[in-house]
Amino acid sequence: MSRFLSEKLLGLKPYTPGEQPQDMDYIKLNTNENPFPPSPSVVKVITNAEVDRLRLYPDPENSKIVNALASSFEISGNRIMVGNGSDELLAFVFMAYTDAKNCFAFPEISYGFYPVYSELFSNKCERIPLKADFKIDIAAFMNTKNNIILANPNAPTGEAIPLETIERLVMANRNRLVVIDEAYVDFGAESAVRLTSRFDNLLIIGTLSKSRSLAGARLGYAVGSVSLISDLKKIKYSFNSYNVNRLTEVIAVAAVGDSEYFEKNVKTIIKNREFLTKELTALGFEVLDSKANFIFVRNKKISGKDYYLKLKKKGILVRYLEDIKIKDFVRISIGKKSDLEKLIAETKEIIK
Ligand SMILES: *Cc1c(COP(=O)(O)O)cnc(C)c1O
Repeated sequence: MSRFLSEKLLGLKPYTPGEQPQDMDYIKLNTNENPFPPSPSVVKVITNAEVDRLRLYPDPENSKIVNALASSFEISGNRIMVGNGSDELLAFVFMAYTDAKNCFAFPEISYGFYPVYSELFSNKCERIPLKADFKIDIAAFMNTKNNIILANPNAPTGEAIPLETIERLVMANRNRLVVIDEAYVDFGAESAVRLTSRFDNLLIIGTLSKSRSLAGARLGYAVGSVSLISDLKKIKYSFNSYNVNRLTEVIAVAAVGDSEYFEKNVKTIIKNREFLTKELTALGFEVLDSKANFIFVRNKKISGKDYYLKLKKKGILVRYLEDIKIKDFVRISIGKKSDLEKLIAETKEIIK
């Protein structure tokens, strides 16, 4: 660090992204990417004409993708905004709704960016421990004094919260903001998007990175009341008015328009998740019930770190998270069946 760095950043511990090796010699099951390519309609919209138009700034309101999302959710466009991945929108949320008095409550084991954004923008937060079975302690969230952010399904556990529970949570906290991060919702959980027309204290954050295979394009969205969206736009126009680039916008419109392809891939991933769960359970693993495109597993015979390192040596990357409370676990993204079969074969050798 240089001697010029702002004092308020001295203690900040940034988020550590999963490994992204640039040689493709690994089976990558570590960052919850989709194993299938984006919709074939995506490549068709990257035309010479679109490339020519890269000399122009994008539409700052991103009306084309906002309208495409609005019609898929059957809501009006003024209740949606898009960002450079949902990570950017999450950062806007923490910027907008935290200060010396207000902060977010979230599960102690959840998406690693929540504590980082808390530290960056308000220097405080409330971390609510998971229950002994690694489920979210919903009762504790019913009684918090703070705003709430939950990932549904939760990461890295995969637990899905029923829609009815989200609704109770939103009703119990009418004077606090409830943010639901639905990065993995398409893999078997229930979206709370439609509740946003009834509750002005509910904000949904979603992404095309996982279920639409567009992690590299960076397109996230926020859905909420007109006034919540205008708060987030206030931040955007004070920060980066062209946060979503032209090519990403046309790509995203094409992907959102191809529901048939998307549904087929999601179905395959769910089937593969069930296959891997069954196989690892048979090998003595405990597999937490997951509605996401990953599973969170442990085996009494081997520590999480050891299993991760041994798989890496065999050319398979999974995610090991440095946290004493989940040190026995690794998180495995659901890949193609052939990749999962290799993982199972190597696992048999490792735990023998
Ligand atoms: C992957 C992920 C995101 C970030 O997604 P991007 O849209 O790619 O920035 C947000 N929240 C959770 C819980 C995630 O796992």
